[in-house]
Amino acid sequence: MIICVIGGGASGMAAALAASENPDNQVVLFERQARLGRKLQATGNGRCNLTNVNMSSSHYHGDNPEFSQIPLSAFSVTETLNWFRRLGLFTVAEPSGRVYPYSDQANSVSDVLRFALDRPNIRLVTGTEVTRIHRREEGFCVEGVDCQRVIVACGGLAGTKLGGSMSGYRLLRNLGHHVTKLRPALVQLKAAWSGCAALKGVRCNCHVQILHDGILHSQSTGELQFTEYGLSGPVIFEVSRDACQGSGEWVCRMNFLPSFTASELEEELYRRRETALSTDDLLTGILHNRLGRVLTKAAGIPGGQSVSSLADTQLTALVGIVRCLEIPLSETLGMDSAQVTAGGIVTDEFDPQTMESRLVPGLYACGEVLDVDGDCGGYNLQWAWSSGVCAGRHAGKEML
Ligand SMILES: Cc1cc2nc3c(=O)[nH]c(=O)nc-3n(C[C@H](O)[C@H](O)[C@H](O)COP(=O)(O)OP(=O)(O)OC[C@H]3O[C@@H](n4cnc5c(N)ncnc54)[C@H](O)[C@@H]3O)c2cc1C
Repeated sequence: MIICVIGGGASGMAAALAASENPDNQVVLFERQARLGRKLQATGNGRCNLTNVNMSSSHYHGDNPEFSQIPLSAFSVTETLNWFRRLGLFTVAEPSGRVYPYSDQANSVSDVLRFALDRPNIRLVTGTEVTRIHRREEGFCVEGVDCQRVIVACGGLAGTKLGGSMSGYRLLRNLGHHVTKLRPALVQLKAAWSGCAALKGVRCNCHVQILHDGILHSQSTGELQFTEYGLSGPVIFEVSRDACQGSGEWVCRMNFLPSFTASELEEELYRRRETALSTDDLLTGILHNRLGRVLTKAAGIPGGQSVSSLADTQLTALVGIVRCLEIPLSETLGMDSAQVTAGGIVTDEFDPQTMESRLVPGLYACGEVLDVDGDCGGYNLQWAWSSGVCAGRHAGKEML
């Protein structure tokens, strides 16, 4: 049987390997870019967070969140790690549960996949964008290749510079499938607060809440990074899903000392007031120096004064700012910068047991092109591996 896989990213490579397990199958893997796995090499800041040992359904989203659980159980985290080990990849799990290649290089992941794809029954066609899947009476024709099965593994729209595009949605729409609204997820947020530019590059631990018209939209604790335009870092990725969508007021509320109580900070500030410190150093030793100065200023305390001159109300105001700074958000940084697409091809149109289309027999889809997105922490790549292997295995099964 001939199986065409469209897209040589994470899910497409997994699907091609799984479909080629039966030596009687011929697999043709099409990739638009010159090399396979380009996005994979940029994942996890060049380290590739390939999965997470703390797996639960709560980490996945989409109009039908249950859909993803079937492939994720059929090809679980343990099976994924064993599979990578057989491909020659050593991995290590961090205390947070995030799994990385032992080499700490994302290239290692794409390399072992590329080496494994060097099989006699897999043909790689790189630098070729598939623009249409033609239906034949018996199967399909993809870029002149007649085949019985097609797997669409074109990824989503996120990360445009690394290969994200509308291509997969178009291919599937042409065959009758539907697409939900596409939004950037795991994305940086733009803030209308001058302090961000002054704090550019500062990283800190923070409890973040996103509020929409005063109502809590999402929250998390973790590393925040200030940028020229606003907010980034893992904690922002975690709270960014569907943030700044539609009308209304979006606000980011930050607590820079989530593991200390208000009275602990207050006591320390009262103690410092008895010293000869300058107001510039009021938070020195507690927070990043630059962050301390910006927050002190935001509390209305001028720099360069003696702390002994501060009134109780000024110290209380500073405690309030450190524990509850609110800044207005304007928008996300958009699809170009997003790590994943929220939304995608309607999953009810696919069978989660096999990843086969319910509309077009012999057509399969996997990975980000479908309406499934995961949290930050390796969950999106796990979806790519699980759905890819599942699609490949079933597409590779002999027709009855
Ligand atoms: C900067 C960045 C960092 C990330 N870090 C992580 C991380 O550490 N952990 C994690 O779990 N997730 C991470 N992600 C998300 C993760 O990379 C994706 O969810 C995952 O790669 C999706 O796999 P996929 O196979 O569906 O799509 P992709 O990996 O995007 O692969 C799709 C491939 O199909 C090709 N293609 C598209 N259309 C066609 C066509 N018509 N013809 C031929 N080829 C086509 C594309 O060029 C591309 O190579 C990150 C994403 C980005 C952008």
